[in-house]
Amino acid sequence: MKTIIEPFRIKAVEPIKMTSREQRAQYIEAAHYNLFALASENVLIDLLTDSGTSSMSAAQWAAIMRGDESYAGSPSFARFEAAVRHLMPFKYVIPTHQGRAAERILFSVAATAGQFVPNNTHFDTTRANIEALGARPVDLVIEEAQHPEREHPFKGNMDVARLAQFIEDKGPQNIPLCMLTVTNNSGGGQPVSLENMRQTKALCARHGIPLFIDACRFAENAYFIKLREPGYRDKPVVDIVREMFAQADGCTMSAKKDGLANMGGWLALNDDAWEEQCRNLLILTEGFPTYGGLAGRDLEAIAVGLEEVVDEEYLAYRFASTQYVGRHLIEGGVSIVRPVGGHAVYLDARAILPHIPPLHYPGQSLAVELYLHGGIRGCEIGTVMFGRKADGAEEPSPMELVRLAIPRRLYTQSHMDYVLEVILEVFARREQMRGMKITWQAPALRHFSAKFAYLD
Ligand SMILES: *Cc1c(COP(=O)(O)O)cnc(C)c1O
Repeated sequence: MKTIIEPFRIKAVEPIKMTSREQRAQYIEAAHYNLFALASENVLIDLLTDSGTSSMSAAQWAAIMRGDESYAGSPSFARFEAAVRHLMPFKYVIPTHQGRAAERILFSVAATAGQFVPNNTHFDTTRANIEALGARPVDLVIEEAQHPEREHPFKGNMDVARLAQFIEDKGPQNIPLCMLTVTNNSGGGQPVSLENMRQTKALCARHGIPLFIDACRFAENAYFIKLREPGYRDKPVVDIVREMFAQADGCTMSAKKDGLANMGGWLALNDDAWEEQCRNLLILTEGFPTYGGLAGRDLEAIAVGLEEVVDEEYLAYRFASTQYVGRHLIEGGVSIVRPVGGHAVYLDARAILPHIPPLHYPGQSLAVELYLHGGIRGCEIGTVMFGRKADGAEEPSPMELVRLAIPRRLYTQSHMDYVLEVILEVFARREQMRGMKITWQAPALRHFSAKFAYLD
């Protein structure tokens, strides 16, 4: 088999700035060793997130010129709605400025204080929006997901037996809806199988609980199903996508992921009464229902993005580039979360830096070193992000990871070869790396703004 190449050529280029190690040392010191505080122009390869960072195609830029900015009844909305419903055949589609706005509207309508919302693993905005209403988010992913080194083809699956027990314990009347996140972002970008979706849906249906899909990476999840789930190899991805959404009563979506757009999202659902309340909330805080929080041109870019993201040549390349990085790291002896997920590679900082205890933030130390050594920006997902409890006490996060998220269609294979070289060089000198301490932190979501220093 030949090399899987980028299935596109480059029409517009954006220069990236080369920096020396001395310059980067100054920038990161001035940023108090917090990668969120860097100016992005001082980052060479930015793997902080795959959200909103995709390259748009020539067809998307052309569609942007067609955007109709009418306040009501825009044909851009009609094209957006048709593109969404082609893949996700729900009765109603409500555009929003991004995924979290769809979440806020849905939970405001569906959930009340004291209720429970189960999911395989809630993404942090989903969790926060549920908590903001006084309701409780619960993660019920399968046990394998807690073990970075264990292989499983669908490590994002819901633990259906635990969900059944949970519904029994809490009572279906206290569970306004259940969610499935595809792929499971917080769990390493791991997919959910169609079999698991069917079982989850059947269980929820028996108790009259609606099932919603957090759909951000639906196309990547469908491609994993095609490759890994028995019986799907010869099915078109579009058909798999439609079968996935046929298991659900609605979905929330961030178009900044598999919408291949830089902004946008939506809420889709079938229930008439919920739709009416959601639409009223939408008008209150996002805008008229034919534009939500978006410009007509954004709706056009998403409509075209949805056609392109289910193109199997694109998905083969997307999958190959993430697997390529993961495979070479494993061959180089670097511990990563296995199997490699759809949108990111997660370095296991606890295994790589066993001499740095969790409360000395091995993930942060590794992320800073990747920047210092090669100008690469990743994201700590460990004790810095999750280690502080509500009462202010600190305890180790279950895992110490550094996420390297790969933006869609943005970087080429030589960029990824460079990333591999940098990681392997840092890995070779891992014993010299030191732990860190926090010198200042905000009361909530501290990872965005905390200041760090090296321990002596
Ligand atoms: C990004 C994301 C969201 C939130 O979407 P935004 O557009 O960032 O508001 C929700 N769920 C998952 C799984 C995500 O990855």
